[in-house]
Amino acid sequence: MKIVSIAALLAAFMLAGCAGAQFRLPEISDADVNRASLTVAGETDNLPKHYRTAEENRAMVNRAASRLEAAAPALCVYAHAPRCTFNVVYVADDTVNAQTNGTRIEIYRGLLQYLDSEEEVAAVIGHEMGHEIAQHVEEMRENATIGAVLAGILMGGAMVATGYQDPQAMNDSMRLGASVGVLSFSKEQEREADLLSAYLLARANYDLQKAGRVWVVLSKMDGETHASMFDTHPAGPERVAAWEKAIAEVEASPNKLPQE
Ligand SMILES: [Zn+2]
Repeated sequence: MKIVSIAALLAAFMLAGCAGAQFRLPEISDADVNRASLTVAGETDNLPKHYRTAEENRAMVNRAASRLEAAAPALCVYAHAPRCTFNVVYVADDTVNAQTNGTRIEIYRGLLQYLDSEEEVAAVIGHEMGHEIAQHVEEMRENATIGAVLAGILMGGAMVATGYQDPQAMNDSMRLGASVGVLSFSKEQEREADLLSAYLLARANYDLQKAGRVWVVLSKMDGETHASMFDTHPAGPERVAAWEKAIAEVEASPNKLPQE
């Protein structure tokens, strides 16, 4: 039965990887990535920390969230987002983290302490809003359901074929299939969230160059972040390079909307 479970898992994995992007993602070359690597290498290894009060952190998060939400409607309509209101909260916890469950965006103190400016905070919030605008969590849940059903079908088929009945194995298999689907956003979804963040920031009149430092900081911290959503985020030079490309794209865009 083990082989069948692995086959079911693989099928679920493949489905989970299917969650693509709605918009055209910036193309990045090796030269772009190399240039970004130099930028990352140029940033100090000893990242300065900011010790702000809870009130200061909360105010910064709320300010950025309001500005981005006010700038979002045209993008929401364009992306067919089911709603365009966002519940952004500050979490007083030292984990280096930011995440969304689809309806609630959490920004952790542990991440904020490494950020220099409201622009950088806005880039992170814009990324999480991007996941919500593009309905990435919903896509992920669909994949989880499909993964569970598929794992169950494969397992059931195997039981019929072998004449072996084991409801427990069937349940385990379905649960496994579902968990594979909810494991994380796909790389395309992460890149799309960054792209939408760039458009949101531009619409909110944030300085995109200044905001981009956050991806350099996260590249520096790659491997040092705790178990968090950021672990599944692309935090390398590739992300820095993609942001640079996104800036150029946003500046050249007449309607400040991404291309489908
Ligand atoms: Zn993300």
